[in-house]
Parts: sequence; C-alpha cells; structure tokens
Amino acid sequence: MEGESLFRPIADNEVFYFSCGPEVPCFNACCRDLNQFLAPYDVLRLARHLDMHTGDFLAAYTLCHDGPQTGLPVVTLKPAEPGEKQCPFVAAEGCRVYENRPGSCRMYPLARMLRRARNDGSLTESYALIREAHCRGFEQGLPMTAEQWIADQGLEPYNELNDAMIDVISVKQQYLPGPVKGALGEKLFAALYDIDAWKTDFHPQASADSRHPGFPLDEPDPADDEALLRFAMQYAAALLRHESGDRPQTEARM
Ligand code: SF4
Ligand code: SF4
Repeated sequence: MEGESLFRPIADNEVFYFSCGPEVPCFNACCRDLNQFLAPYDVLRLARHLDMHTGDFLAAYTLCHDGPQTGLPVVTLKPAEPGEKQCPFVAAEGCRVYENRPGSCRMYPLARMLRRARNDGSLTESYALIREAHCRGFEQGLPMTAEQWIADQGLEPYNELNDAMIDVISVKQQYLPGPVKGALGEKLFAALYDIDAWKTDFHPQASADSRHPGFPLDEPDPADDEALLRFAMQYAAALLRHESGDRPQTEARM
C-alpha cells in the first residue's frame, strides 16, 4: 500500500536484500524528507568532517530543545531552508558528508533495538527491518545479515558510543528526572554534544573530580576525540548521580 511502512524483527542469521546509491530511481528521496536526530558521536564526526569546532557546527547546522521525557538536550539537523525538510548535506550526486554521515543514515533499512537486563544492567541488541513503500533499495543489492550490514556501514563505533549515551539517559531518568537548567545543564550539553567547548571549559574540573569515588578514572589522551567523548559521557553520568546526592528517584529504565 502506498506510504505504508513495515517494521519486522529479523533473526540474527536472516538474510535481506538492500542497496542504495545513484542507481536507484528514488536516490536522495529520504535525504529530502528529513527528520534527523543527532547523537553525540554524530555531532563529533560531522564537525570533524567539516573541520569545524563542535560549537560552530551546532550553531550552523542544528536545532536543539529539551527532551520532554529525559530533560536532556535533543539535537536535530536543521533543514537546508526554513520550512523545508531537505538535509543541508544532500547534493545531486549524493551525500556531501558520506564518510561521516550520521548513524541513523547508515542504519537504514535496519532499526536497532536494545533491552537492558534487570540483574546486571547489560544491554542486548536485536534488529528489525523497516520497509518503506517508497524505498526502491529493496529491489536490488547483495544478500546481507544484520551483522554484515552493521560491519559494511561502519556502524560499530556509532553503536558503541550510542550505547554510552543510553547509559547517560538511563542515569538521568533514574537519579535526576525532569529538566536540567543553569550551570549543570550547560555542563551536560558540552559533555554530550559540544566536546570542543567541554575540552577547554569543563575538562579540567572533570579531571579533578576523577579523584573522587564514582567518577571515571581513565584520563583519555586529549587528542583522541572518541576517547574524550567516551570519558565526557561517563563523567556526565557520574555528575548526575553526584548532583542527586547519589539517591535514585526511580527504578532503572531503558
Ligand atoms: S547526512 Fe547524508 S545520508 Fe544523511 S540525510 Fe543528510 S544527505 Fe542524506
Ligand atoms: S528511499 Fe531507500 S533507496 Fe531511495 S534513497 Fe532513500 S534509502 Fe536509498
């Protein structure tokens, strides 16, 4: 049926056929119908691709609001033109930031689902296939399993750092539910999304806090952006616990 999407969980070894590129008649269609959330790692990769300070990238290409459920910042790509839905990075020949495109652009046509174990808090992943009626990529391509698609699309670092963000969200909901404003809000935003500002403005304090129990210990190489983001996210989670007096307000949730 026109416009219908099918969402179907797939088994680990199940094979699907998909390919997207200039050869498909709908090439670029989804990049012109944007609803693009950016994770912290997406912001870092895109800013580096464009050789920009993360703060400058955020100002130029994104919109931000407080998440109604988490109280944490939610960052989305700003459309190329106000009132339209076109990605600022789409061109006739394809994606201008392809090597560092966001995780969600890489993940489609899969959706990654996570479940947290109650006993030890560990995360288990599974995948579903999203089949949108307008998408012609299903008519071609080599057979793939979800695992092969993840490797083919370079998604491992995205998944790893997105899981770290899920840990921050989980701690936020458990220890400090509701909106976060003021200095704490600024600190969290920088730690999660504006890592270049965090590096200069807040990292020294994080290094000092790391001597206290509960804060992350492994000081990363300041030149290693991914390690620094990982550390900043662990620090954000520790800070939320600390600000709550280490008293959970609700049960752990995903
Ligand atoms: S970042 Fe690239 S792949 Fe993703 S929506 Fe924009 S143009 Fe398309
Ligand atoms: S609609 Fe599907 S095949 Fe067409 S450009 Fe988007 S992802 Fe590729």
